[in-house]
Amino acid sequence: MIFEVSILGSSSATPIYQRHPSAQVVNIHERFFLVDCGEGTLIQMNRYKIKFHRISHIFISHLHGDHYLGLLGLISTMHLQGRTASLNVYGPAKLKEIIDIQLDYSETELRYPLVFHPLDATTPACIYNEDNVEVHTIILNHRIPCTGFMFIESHKLRKLNKESVEEHGIPVEFFHELKNGKDFVRPDGTIIPNSQLTLPPPPDRRYAYCSDTIYDERLIGIVRGVDLLYHEATFMDDRVERARETYHSTARQAGIIARNAGVQRLIIGHFSARYKNLYPLLDEAKSEFNQVTLALEGDRFSI
Ligand SMILES: [Zn+2]
Ligand SMILES: [Zn+2]
Repeated sequence: MIFEVSILGSSSATPIYQRHPSAQVVNIHERFFLVDCGEGTLIQMNRYKIKFHRISHIFISHLHGDHYLGLLGLISTMHLQGRTASLNVYGPAKLKEIIDIQLDYSETELRYPLVFHPLDATTPACIYNEDNVEVHTIILNHRIPCTGFMFIESHKLRKLNKESVEEHGIPVEFFHELKNGKDFVRPDGTIIPNSQLTLPPPPDRRYAYCSDTIYDERLIGIVRGVDLLYHEATFMDDRVERARETYHSTARQAGIIARNAGVQRLIIGHFSARYKNLYPLLDEAKSEFNQVTLALEGDRFSI
């Protein structure tokens, strides 16, 4: 089953060196989630052949422009192209005001329902839960309220052990109960334990998106063991003071978080415009954690 992250942009602040600000698409079983929507996101979607009409959930981490200035363009284009399916937008409460004022002043009445979900940047919450896919907020430590997002493909139901189920002649009507972990009890009172009839569910797959944030060791427990971690790496470590002042992280710090959290893989992004060549940032993160890759636009990461 597909669980894939496509990078559309991974620059901080300004578009430069043909790099675009933050935006990613997470595809879980052909459900497409847009995460942040910096300037130019729609153009990037066209470039990388991501059909924007398939996006029905958009998650905005915070209200610095490099994370949402592409949103109104996308909302308007969906309207102009005749979208009728509802669009869910998750983000800071004030984002709703920004959207409303722009639609008001252009006297636009959207042809589709826009459902806005305000996020609380102080308490983590499950904000989406449908068909084995969950999205949870991650509380980040930034200059303004900011949430990251944890995407989880979770399997709560056990798998039937077909051979054993047949051998014991379990009726089909009971299969759902078996998947929920119940033992089977025969009319004569004999119990067949669930563990003989089912197999454990496959492990959850998890992707954690953390941008923007100061180096914060509280993240280690939150992203522990994830399959893929995106952590911002705005600066190199010789600018660690600058990173601290601006509530950003360095490539080395991203590597430290990944190593201490025991994640499978790290991707770094949110690169400052001061770095034309990004490989020194990669090397620096690698000095702390080997399984690291630059999050470059056009790249896809499968979990
Ligand atoms: Zn940013
Ligand atoms: Zn920011």
